[in-house]
Amino acid sequence: PADGNGYQRVLLKLSGEAFGGGSVGVDGGIVHSIAEQLAGVVHGGTQVAVVVGGGNFFRGAELAEAGMDRRHADYMGMLGTVMNALALQAFCEQVGLETRVQTAITMGQVAEPYIPRKAVRHMEKGRLVIFGAGAGMPYFSTDTVAAQRALEIGCQVLLMAKNGVDGVYDDDPRTNPAATMYDDLEYATVLADQLKVADATAISLCMDNRMPIVVFNLLRDGNIARAAAGERIGTLIS
Ligand code: UDP
Repeated sequence: PADGNGYQRVLLKLSGEAFGGGSVGVDGGIVHSIAEQLAGVVHGGTQVAVVVGGGNFFRGAELAEAGMDRRHADYMGMLGTVMNALALQAFCEQVGLETRVQTAITMGQVAEPYIPRKAVRHMEKGRLVIFGAGAGMPYFSTDTVAAQRALEIGCQVLLMAKNGVDGVYDDDPRTNPAATMYDDLEYATVLADQLKVADATAISLCMDNRMPIVVFNLLRDGNIARAAAGERIGTLIS
């Protein structure tokens, strides 16, 4: 942010991988640490909404590979994200951070429905808002939903937390030690070079609406706060 004082309102995308620590299910230690970091950021005065992925449970494309109808598979994927949303809520409340879960598939016993103006009110009252069930529509990704929610609820930046990589590289840093990280990137380059940041729908939505994206490493302690404070970490896509 131009004033160097941090953002007022941010959207954080946490992938399913962040919850499972690379395996199926929820890793309590990791989610507890995320919750503690989020409590620090929200109590510090930044308004935060989170979109959660679900790849630690189901990915529609993988279930489709296994022979399942894609639409059923995608709905299973969306339900998986709701489980992550509930896990994050539970750990946040343990550390004293008030939260509300809103889902794009209505399930009144479990969460509020997605009501954008209400989400904004929650954030203004110092509550963390967690969005589950993706867009509620098959053939979308939670990355695209993160971009859409960031736009609809007026966030200044989309923070994309990655598991173990510091930003966007010109090649996979886990297999190619010579890969170099970009400090800055243009949306068009991400699309043209098919860089693995988010799907093309998410990137083009941000490009068309000038929503900056910061890609950063979730596994470095304190990075959520650094990214929310507008420190130059990771890769800035704008
Ligand atoms: N999904 C969907 N529509 C949405 C969001 C998600 O159908 O709007 C499904 C899709 O099958 C996807 C799964 O939910 O594979 C889990 O989400 P995603 O793969 O985006 O999670 P992540 O990769 O961030 O863990």
